[in-house]
Amino acid sequence: MSKRKILVIYTGGTIGMMMDPESKALRPFEFKNIYQQLPMLHLIEADITFKEMLPLIDSSDTNPDFWIRLAKMIGEEYDRYDGFVVLHGTDTMAYTASALSFLLENLGKPVILTGSQLPLGVIRSDGRRNILNAIAIAADYVYDKPIIQEVCIYFQNNLYRGNRTYKDNASRFNAFYSPNFPILAEVNTNVEYHKDDLWRQDPDKPLIVHDKMEDNVAIVKLYPGIRHEVLQSIFSTPNLRAAIIETFGVGNAPTSPAFINTLKDAVSRGILIVNVTQCKGGGGVKMGRYLTGKLLADIGIVSGHDMTTEAAITKLMYLLANLYEMDDVRRLMELPLRGELTIE
Ligand code: ASP
Repeated sequence: MSKRKILVIYTGGTIGMMMDPESKALRPFEFKNIYQQLPMLHLIEADITFKEMLPLIDSSDTNPDFWIRLAKMIGEEYDRYDGFVVLHGTDTMAYTASALSFLLENLGKPVILTGSQLPLGVIRSDGRRNILNAIAIAADYVYDKPIIQEVCIYFQNNLYRGNRTYKDNASRFNAFYSPNFPILAEVNTNVEYHKDDLWRQDPDKPLIVHDKMEDNVAIVKLYPGIRHEVLQSIFSTPNLRAAIIETFGVGNAPTSPAFINTLKDAVSRGILIVNVTQCKGGGGVKMGRYLTGKLLADIGIVSGHDMTTEAAITKLMYLLANLYEMDDVRRLMELPLRGELTIE
């Protein structure tokens, strides 16, 4: 059988950096020299093409336009390749993976993001194994069907559902965590897929690449003592259409009338507010459990269930831009579209 064709898209980040000999600062190296950096690429059973998405960026500069360009690039090459690997900075990788999961509707092939904590050109770099394993997983097919049919992050021996992860550590090689959904695969001496947890896509549905995202959104992290004027000023942002409030515990918030009335006023002006908890693990928001959460539900705040903030904000951006009716956005925020939330 012919080799699987894999497209590797390099977008920037530490993985493709080398130390500038003079300034000692990290700068991107030319990816056409990747085989010198990583001769073992020749050993992978796949036909690999490398492409750069220019300009290369530190992932702190990622934004919705970048996500749309990346989604379109994958869409344009979709029929020519069997799988995709995106090399990306780790800082916002979980946002990009979440955004791609929504923008690429009916995705039926692997799209695997990876990166590294240390540049490829550094002796202890984690990048070499991350790239090699991500490509090997993207090329893994059984009976002519891809094992992975969704957007994932591969990092330090683990494959995660992209829209379930967040960056948890800035220095450990094990940088990502998926608090509310199991790991999809573990790379030990074999690749062990957790088959029951993998997304299965209906092969008859064609890929739809969405090309719009709404950035008139906000995230507000609550803290004890937050002044309602702070909230008021955020909710008075011109053109604001929706916001996530990061609450406490199972979705609780202060009960003072000034606080609640500020939220109520925003809701009455048509701003959609989604409740995502600051507790990353433990199953997410349950607004009925305490009075402090129930008050939020009563004024029309929507539950983010166990979504990560990364998934919730990119989902909002996607839904707001692609749906006309706010009621549909509200309804779909509470339903799993790409395996990003669990309803208990
Ligand atoms: N600042 C870098 C970035 O996210 C860090 C990394 O690549 O890991 O682009």
